[in-house]
Amino acid sequence: MCRRVLCYMECGSLTIEGVIRKAVVEEGMNREVAYLIPTLHDRPVGIRKLSTGKRSSVIVEMYVLFNELFRFEREWDSFVMFHHHGDMMKQPSESDRALTARIRECCIALNIRFGGHYTIGIDGITKVKED
Ligand SMILES: [Zn+2]
Repeated sequence: MCRRVLCYMECGSLTIEGVIRKAVVEEGMNREVAYLIPTLHDRPVGIRKLSTGKRSSVIVEMYVLFNELFRFEREWDSFVMFHHHGDMMKQPSESDRALTARIRECCIALNIRFGGHYTIGIDGITKVKED
């Protein structure tokens, strides 16, 4: 499976939100898909698909996320992740908040800057709030 959704040049000219919107348009909205966007100075430098889920769920394994991040071939200093809620609303679920907290914990342990977790629905994009 090709994990490359957009090429580097395409990403380089887009904001984080622009990359998210483009990926969602390309993927379609019929099931949940999770992505990683490595960033440098808060600009996307690429995108990797982490996992494809079902209509209303997607599983993100920490080892997959950090494996993709560490193997990423370009320079990065932070990353964001996002997943889209198929054809549902953007509102993060309890498990979305738990996943975000877990990523945050791993990033603290690994001394990596985490730019946050976005969820996307038919009503737009939101960032998962953290305590
Ligand atoms: Zn979700």
